[in-house]
Amino acid sequence: MSAPFRSYVLVSREQIARNFRNVRSVAGPGVEVAAVVKADAYGHGALEVSRVLMAEGAHWFAVSSVDEGAQLRAGGIRDPRILVMGGYLPYEADALLAHNLTPAIHSLAQIRDLDHLAASTAKPIPYHLKIDSGMGRLGTCASPAQILETLAATPHARLEGLMTHFASAADFTSPQTDAQIEYFRSTVRALGEAGIRAPLLHTSSTNAIGYARDTDGPTLVRAGHALYGYLSPARGDAPPPLLDVKPALTWKAKILAVKDLPEGALVGYGGSFRTPRPMRIGILGAGYADGIFHRLSNRGKVIADGKLTPILGTVSMDLTTIDLSHTTALAPGDEVTLLGADGDVSLDAQQIAKTAGTISYNILCNISARVRRVYA
Ligand SMILES: *Cc1c(COP(=O)(O)O)cnc(C)c1O
Repeated sequence: MSAPFRSYVLVSREQIARNFRNVRSVAGPGVEVAAVVKADAYGHGALEVSRVLMAEGAHWFAVSSVDEGAQLRAGGIRDPRILVMGGYLPYEADALLAHNLTPAIHSLAQIRDLDHLAASTAKPIPYHLKIDSGMGRLGTCASPAQILETLAATPHARLEGLMTHFASAADFTSPQTDAQIEYFRSTVRALGEAGIRAPLLHTSSTNAIGYARDTDGPTLVRAGHALYGYLSPARGDAPPPLLDVKPALTWKAKILAVKDLPEGALVGYGGSFRTPRPMRIGILGAGYADGIFHRLSNRGKVIADGKLTPILGTVSMDLTTIDLSHTTALAPGDEVTLLGADGDVSLDAQQIAKTAGTISYNILCNISARVRRVYA
């Protein structure tokens, strides 16, 4: 299928749904799967992905900010719960309540703020308390005794979840995940002994789900990358991955021009590529403003006429030049694959990330807003 856009991504709704079902079956019965659709569903389109997953029966979505949550509500995602993992700032409190969003809370002071808010609006506002179990990013470092003291003083806000996040879940050469699990469990235990039980306990995102890091106790998992078909490769002595997910997104760009250059010609800004022989080149209508990493200049590849072929010269803002010496089949208006499969050849976000010196998440999230999203 071809769409009338210079650069577009084609997202398979069915593959997103399959990936969600796979995560659900790996998470097991009785474990809720929160679909992480932050950052426009990692470039796949948050609204469309949320609609697909709502139809699959998703009860929970997770986003980063109040703004992202409000956009889901405005787009018609009404009934499912929405967890705002990045919490809220004071100026976002009204929108949080208006859109019925559930904040992750990262400090005891903020439990008190939320409690005031709940008291003043006469609403029992649910929240999930994030424990910093050793990642050193968001989450409270308070002791169980301090948490209990705060909970006793905040009867209006409702503790619905206890959560944490792992820093190194795919790294089996590091003891960090086991230490984080132990810390989180001991906090949950101490609160439980004092009679405080949150209905939802959650620690795991894709890598922890995929490598079965913490399967005993949690009642919810937060899956992002897996929904989009990815699991990070493990380091060290990892068990076989449980997830069987596949990429759902194909990224295409149109060829604007094809031409033949003699040996010794320079290509693109800075003349960083010189043809070592006569070459046919294609100029694509997509560049770094579309999300093709500038770091792929003279290093990256695309798939053209069923073959991997190199990017020549520097990636420009709106244009990228590729080698088409292997084919006479492509003309202006035809398209190439920047990410995805074409025939027997494929190029996924992890492979591109390796070449660009980054991670697959970064490749997906970097596909810019001007690249049209098309759904199949
Ligand atoms: C982004 C995020 C997730 C999802 O992570 P994936 O690796 O994409 O599954 C889960 N939890 C938190 C706190 C996050 O920020």
